[in-house]
Amino acid sequence: MRMTVLASGSRGNSAVIASANASILVDAGISCRETLKRMKAVGEDPQRLKAIVISHEHQDHVAGLQVLARKLQIPVYITEATYQGWRRSTRDAEGRPAKLERREHFHIGRSFNVADITVTTFTIPHDAADPCGFTFKADGVKFGLVTDLGYLTHSVKDHLRRCDGLMIESNHDLEMLRNGPYPWMVKQRVMSRVGHLSNAALAEFFAKDYDGQAAFLVLAHISEQNNHPEVARETAFKALGGKMNLFQSCALTLARQDHPLQPLCLG
Ligand SMILES: [Zn+2]
Ligand SMILES: [Zn+2]
Repeated sequence: MRMTVLASGSRGNSAVIASANASILVDAGISCRETLKRMKAVGEDPQRLKAIVISHEHQDHVAGLQVLARKLQIPVYITEATYQGWRRSTRDAEGRPAKLERREHFHIGRSFNVADITVTTFTIPHDAADPCGFTFKADGVKFGLVTDLGYLTHSVKDHLRRCDGLMIESNHDLEMLRNGPYPWMVKQRVMSRVGHLSNAALAEFFAKDYDGQAAFLVLAHISEQNNHPEVARETAFKALGGKMNLFQSCALTLARQDHPLQPLCLG
């Protein structure tokens, strides 16, 4: 199985999960054109995509959805509440609320299959209609993907056990956020229990709860205003201590906003 991060951050999120037989696009937060361009750049074939799955309706996760769904002609897996939230803020060419013709409504907490990939969904605490995180299983490998969450609930931690690869949010440094340029209301929102995960909160997870099973870790949704990649990396690295599974030399990676990462392969 492969995980390819196409973009990650407050200006757009998208990743490809690929098994031996099929691929899934996880979130569609960059334009259709940019998505296809980045897939091509890292050798991911758009023809293999069998579904788009959506975590929540914030613009940085759905900005390219309408065009991508139409162009690729593949089903969009989205919860009913997320779909309604998306429709409220998206218009079609005639100015009417947008529609997704091919969609599959899933219930968070349940699993579904896309070709040979089993997708498991779980609730995350975030200020959206019905937000979720994911794990993906195929080829005997399990990947976890979770960003946009105020804190790590017991349920989230449970779902992230025994992941062979994990992409997880390391959004902000608390001091940088406190002293940074955001208006006070926005700072409050980011810091809240339904905002975004700080470097420190992730470090606490790595130190106390993380099982050290993953062959790669991707720090994601790193804020450009309120974080610094090296600060995020250092904080995570220290917290991990000896816990990193070092059979791959580059086990700790940082997702980027403006460039895709090379595919991370396992199994
Ligand atoms: Zn986001
Ligand atoms: Zn969000």
